[in-house]
Amino acid sequence: TMARSEGLLVLENFIAGKFVPCSSYLDSYNPSTGDVYCRVPDSGKEEVEAAVKAAKAAFPIWSSKSPLERSRILNKLADLIEHDLEAFAQAESKDQGKTITFARTVDIPRAVYNFRFFASSILHHTTECTEMASVGCVHYTSRAPVGVAGLISPWNLPLYLLTWKIAPAIACGNTVVAKPSEMTSVTAWMMCKLLEKAGVPHGVVNVVFGTGTKAGEALVCHPDVPLISFTGSTLTAQRITEKSAPHCKRLSLELGGKNPAIVFDDADLSQCIPTTLRSSFANQGEICLCTSRIFVQRGIYSEFLKRFVAEAKKWKVGNPSDPTVDVGALISKEHLEKVRSYVKKAQAEGARVLCGEGVDSLALPTGNQKGYFMLPTVIAEVKDESCCMQEEIFGPVTCVVAFDTEDEVIERANGVKYGLAATVWSSNVGRVHRVARRLQSGLVWTNCWLIRDLNLPFGGMKASGIGREGAKDSYEFFTEVKTITIKH
Ligand code: NAD
Repeated sequence: TMARSEGLLVLENFIAGKFVPCSSYLDSYNPSTGDVYCRVPDSGKEEVEAAVKAAKAAFPIWSSKSPLERSRILNKLADLIEHDLEAFAQAESKDQGKTITFARTVDIPRAVYNFRFFASSILHHTTECTEMASVGCVHYTSRAPVGVAGLISPWNLPLYLLTWKIAPAIACGNTVVAKPSEMTSVTAWMMCKLLEKAGVPHGVVNVVFGTGTKAGEALVCHPDVPLISFTGSTLTAQRITEKSAPHCKRLSLELGGKNPAIVFDDADLSQCIPTTLRSSFANQGEICLCTSRIFVQRGIYSEFLKRFVAEAKKWKVGNPSDPTVDVGALISKEHLEKVRSYVKKAQAEGARVLCGEGVDSLALPTGNQKGYFMLPTVIAEVKDESCCMQEEIFGPVTCVVAFDTEDEVIERANGVKYGLAATVWSSNVGRVHRVARRLQSGLVWTNCWLIRDLNLPFGGMKASGIGREGAKDSYEFFTEVKTITIKH
């Protein structure tokens, strides 16, 4: 109805420094109420074409600026986002369903830090030089930005993951066309409003909104976009790989996980239990790094399970804008149904659901009755072959199983197609080193979770991705290297 559409937030694409309306729009839902609250451009080839053209035109000037000039602009942008932190956090929570607390303390501060971090790191790279005195040669490497970078990001950590790509791409002197998830586009649009004030020249950052199959594929297939940085599901990555193959594009793929936590009987449970609750249920379990298989050594299995379930029951589910709430809404109705279906499958296979979905009742505030909520759910006695132990669920569901030996648990932890992040809990330093080395996982946290030094590589093995991102890794991905030889 007119009345309803009048109140809606309407986003526009950001191309060549200007907001431009689109000929058609998609509905975007507030996951905590189930209402449409925003309209997102349904961009396609035409819009992507305009954005790529603007990015190409901006490239010569932007790429010839000094790292220090670019660094200053990134720092300014970081300050502007930080200045509006609360507005960004409110928008992220409303758009994504995540709790306001998480958006305030994780998403937006990290988006700010992404710009600051790359503003700093870009000043400190050095290239290589070798000498071959016997033939009178010196060799050195030189690095230059690649061109127009295509950046595609998912819905779970919207501004956090988008800026993790934009910041290194433009710090290195590339210009970009970004395509955020159609389900969570609002904070990217808000960021566009700050670009001019930060001093980002027109055309350096362009954002087209829309679906993966239309806007995303148009970007992936565009011949003038030589590089795609993608974060999202493994299935989409396969499609992007196929579509970009005819152009031999440079790809960075950050994909899904089925992350194990391994708890040995000498673990400090007073640390392990609260952290493993967070690693299982933070952001509704919608983080690629979330734990979803907990292997507990037999001797402490029942104690762990009892304490873990008791604590999981204390996690408060409800209105994401309530600062006392721990678990907000899942991203969509479809996703909620998918996550629930895993719990049903586990039950049908004979596993025991110890708390949460189908076991405890969920009382929601009046305004949130139609939101996509689910209780933190713990499942025990699941077989390793079960889809619940093999597939990425990406919701507040975690499986707890027992193990006996170190060799056995390593084999079982590695027995999935993914290899993103693992946690190991033990007070035996030797064991922690041995196990960490043998796990097929791009990241291994021991006695902690989610503590990141952005200097170091981030990314997954196996079906969890190709390539790494971080200070040096992103610099290498977003620049083209050349080896030059000079003979006297
Ligand atoms: P998704 O793959 O469905 O979508 C990700 C992005 O790709 C969206 O912007 C989408 O519109 C776009 N897209 C979809 N189809 C496309 C196509 N054919 N061509 C081009 N673009 C296309 O993923 P999602 O559901 O938004 O995000 C959840 C997934 O992301 C989970 O699997 C999660 O593990 C993964 N993830 C990984 C990391 C990591 O760093 N490894 C971080 C966060 C999320």
